Amino acid sequence: MAKSQDVEIPDAGLIPRPRNFAYLTGVFKPRTGVSISVDPAFAAEAIWALSVLESAFTVRFTLKATGKGTIHVAQVPGLGAEGYRLTIKPAGVRAEASEPAGAFYALQTLRALALIYGDRAPACQIEDEPRFPWRGYMLDTVRNFFEPSFIKRFIDLAALHKLNRFHWHLTDDQGWRMPVRSHPELADTAARKIDRRYLPHVERTLVYSEATITEVVAYAAERHVLVIPEIEMPGHVTALLSAHPEFSCVGGEFEPEDRFGIFPDVLCAGSDKAFDFIGDVLSETTRLFPGPFIHFGGDEVPIERWAACPRCQARIDAEGLPDATALRGWFTRRVTAMLMERNRRAVGWDEVVEGAVPSEVVVMAWRSAERGAAAARAGHDVVMCPSTKACYLDHKHLDSAEEPGHLGVSTVRDSYSFEPLAGFDVAIAPHVLGIQGNLWTELMYFGRQVEYMAFPRLSALSETGWTPEGRKTFEGFSKRLPYWGRALDRLDVARYRGPLG
Ligand SMILES: [Zn+2]
Repeated sequence: MAKSQDVEIPDAGLIPRPRNFAYLTGVFKPRTGVSISVDPAFAAEAIWALSVLESAFTVRFTLKATGKGTIHVAQVPGLGAEGYRLTIKPAGVRAEASEPAGAFYALQTLRALALIYGDRAPACQIEDEPRFPWRGYMLDTVRNFFEPSFIKRFIDLAALHKLNRFHWHLTDDQGWRMPVRSHPELADTAARKIDRRYLPHVERTLVYSEATITEVVAYAAERHVLVIPEIEMPGHVTALLSAHPEFSCVGGEFEPEDRFGIFPDVLCAGSDKAFDFIGDVLSETTRLFPGPFIHFGGDEVPIERWAACPRCQARIDAEGLPDATALRGWFTRRVTAMLMERNRRAVGWDEVVEGAVPSEVVVMAWRSAERGAAAARAGHDVVMCPSTKACYLDHKHLDSAEEPGHLGVSTVRDSYSFEPLAGFDVAIAPHVLGIQGNLWTELMYFGRQVEYMAFPRLSALSETGWTPEGRKTFEGFSKRLPYWGRALDRLDVARYRGPLG
């Protein structure tokens, strides 16, 4: 009955665009008491779906333990780790998946349709699976601190976009936000938030508790999002040095920064005590974060302190290194080895390639897409998140004095148009794990500002991560965006609504 109207909504307004989509006749409009059932492997997904589908369709569902409900997800072989088939008819919904993540995305698509259409879903048939395994976002919780409730809300919004990686930036010059049991001094000293620019009379201690981190990791896992913690070293450590000035080359007094930039004081590469400390921190990180990846930073490391430090010079001699520049690579190689000893895969920013770290290290290409191609040629798997007009979501949406943001302009069109495999030949393209949008929060003070900067650019990036290149057009995305906006409105998401560029 609603078919003629629905056809006017391309692909029912879904973002990311499914691999295959076809309308059928009619709509599915469930009544209270309608049942949901799943094959046993998808029990956790059904529990998640119950609450979000009730909210999206605004009716009460029941979970059916045996037999097939009006909405049923069956386990079938051959659809891959994240793929699914979904058939929606007026009488009911049938989905198929091989793995729990696929079942989750089938139910997530059903939820998205109900959010877009109000309290119903158009009859349709979808076959879907992602282009890339790594579809991520990074949130900086150092420059500004975000409450656990917002961290979880954003995980939910990311999962709605079928993103599956949350890169959690936990330490930097301005603070240390991860608890470390063996080093309580970090929470007491390095977690202080100082901001003389706007709140000169306020100094707060802001660190996530172990319970919060455990809760966030579990919340993310329920939504098939893997959390990758980032502990920055050897640079961006001013807050850490406030608790441990002896780990710097020159000593003295430090306090967490309230300015932004690159600071000369880094961890002393000649200090064995500093490496003992790093070992403690990495052990704690692996205890709190069970996932396979740990990000150790490795970006923006000035060498002026190392060049003048007797301990660092002794290290250079002992290791037979040519100069202080070579300490960068030596440092990151040592940290990488410490992570491998702890059975984790190291992730670093693209500077680490210059230090000849082992090819097992995953590289995040942030300075440019070309850095990603260079890393892939050196044998690294890479995540593409170039700051140049694409993946840095702290940039302005528009070149206007009235628009918030800094360090550049990346329009929605810029973000959408970024093709992660451009510049990769066939031999190195398999090294591209995927794509990521980064939210640096120097100028984002609360959650709604983060949402405004993220959306719809993160929606655009999610489509690049999920949808085959041949199915992507900016024109198609632009036509679906207003309908996708209805889904975001239902969830009260703040977003940029101006020209797309
Ligand atoms: Zn030193």
